[in-house]
Amino acid sequence: MNWQWRLVQRDCTGCGICADVCEHGALRMTPATAYPEAIPLACTGCMTCTAECPFGAIEVTNRG
Ligand code: SF4
Ligand code: SF4
Repeated sequence: MNWQWRLVQRDCTGCGICADVCEHGALRMTPATAYPEAIPLACTGCMTCTAECPFGAIEVTNRG
């Protein structure tokens, strides 16, 4: 599976919850921007981050 992780920056507050809840080490907060970034090959598409983001700022889609 090829999972595409996308951040809707206008909705992201930089709270860091998504990076905390990802159990696969696929998200990290970037100090330079205060936004999370994904490590694409590590993402399993579990959708925990989309479920836990309080602001609906994450979209994860399967590109096949
Ligand atoms: S949980 Fe949502 S609002 Fe918080 S840093 Fe992650 S994407 Fe941004
Ligand atoms: S979908 Fe799952 S594995 Fe991928 S970044 Fe979100 S929490 Fe991590």
